[in-house]
Amino acid sequence: MDGLNKSMYDIGSDSAFSILARSQELARQGKEVINLGIGQPDFPTPTNVVNAAIKALKDGHHGYTSSNGIYELRKAVADDFLNRNKISVDPNQILITPGGKSIIFYTMLMFGEVGSEIITPDPGFIAYKSMIDYTGAKAVCLPHRMENNFSFQAEELLSLINDKTKLIILNSPANPTGGVVPQEELTKLAVGLEKFPNVYVLSDEIYSRILFDNHSHHSLLSYNNIKDRVIVLDGWSKTYSMTGWRLGYGIFPKKIFSFAEKLAINCHSCVNSAAQFAGIEALTGSQDSVNKMIEEFKVRRDFLVKELNNIKNVECKKPGGAFYVFPKVIKENLSSIEISRYLLENKFIATVPGSSFGDKGEGFLRISYANTIDNLKKFVYHLNIFMNE
Ligand code: PMP
Repeated sequence: MDGLNKSMYDIGSDSAFSILARSQELARQGKEVINLGIGQPDFPTPTNVVNAAIKALKDGHHGYTSSNGIYELRKAVADDFLNRNKISVDPNQILITPGGKSIIFYTMLMFGEVGSEIITPDPGFIAYKSMIDYTGAKAVCLPHRMENNFSFQAEELLSLINDKTKLIILNSPANPTGGVVPQEELTKLAVGLEKFPNVYVLSDEIYSRILFDNHSHHSLLSYNNIKDRVIVLDGWSKTYSMTGWRLGYGIFPKKIFSFAEKLAINCHSCVNSAAQFAGIEALTGSQDSVNKMIEEFKVRRDFLVKELNNIKNVECKKPGGAFYVFPKVIKENLSSIEISRYLLENKFIATVPGSSFGDKGEGFLRISYANTIDNLKKFVYHLNIFMNE
């Protein structure tokens, strides 16, 4: 080919970003675009957090920090994790990264290789499969079906494990569906994994604060029998509206921490130091804005689910968490890409086609309701017209 490593041709991309680019282009042409495509809260970062970063800069925190992150931040993460999950972790197991996505990247590099298998959700966050493919490992897709509230049964997951399985990826609450894995399935999984002592789990818990109704979060690290092979991914992007700050973390089992740290040293060196100080304030300061945001998301979710279910050939589950709904949208023989493209090019509404998240996502659209009720109303109005055309 052109001299590139052949794995470069296996790496995928994230269509939410190409849709964002197209939305921005339409906006530059003067179109009023409603963006329900990108997965980021529409609230500003809380002021106390912004001020903490400004103070850090004024105080002269301009240099590199230790590669795993400043101790005070790792300690704040450990305290927060204990407070929320009643699980004690050592700050030395915590790696601060430029966004949670780096944890996916590093973990796939640590486990993926030709001849190995990694079990990943379908539909699931795009970066998982894309990075598995890049490493040459085989992505084994675990269906997360609508009739199962976009969760899975532990038995089905366990049946996919074989000698080649290195890693399982879990994501609850989930992108793109908002689905929440019930605690009993996690418990069954943890018990079942005793038979497979070499299989690790990456538990992506980045939406763990954004839960509704009677859902509560159960971190996979709470299972003592498997905690020495669980990697937790979390971060600030969603909870504190900090997507642009690039701040996330991973909690790694002690025996493999140094490998993750070496990847960090070789790749990003350390995270922007002012952002790290902001991260401390986010975790230790007032949580009022987080709670308000979650309340507001719940109002929007309830509105959207009710309205979508009134539209012909649209069926929408009520998700337990995150800020997405994942309705089934069936229109003649149009694919989800064609429906999403139509909505963007003709109605100037950005959504993400379900098929971007895996084969099982075909027939669905991902709608991020991190947007105003007024804009959600416009979306429902246009979708209704389109579905009746
Ligand atoms: N995991 C999931 C499931 C996500 O949806 C995202 C962001 N879309 C991330 C990880 C990464 O977030 P960030 O890198 O902004 O922390």
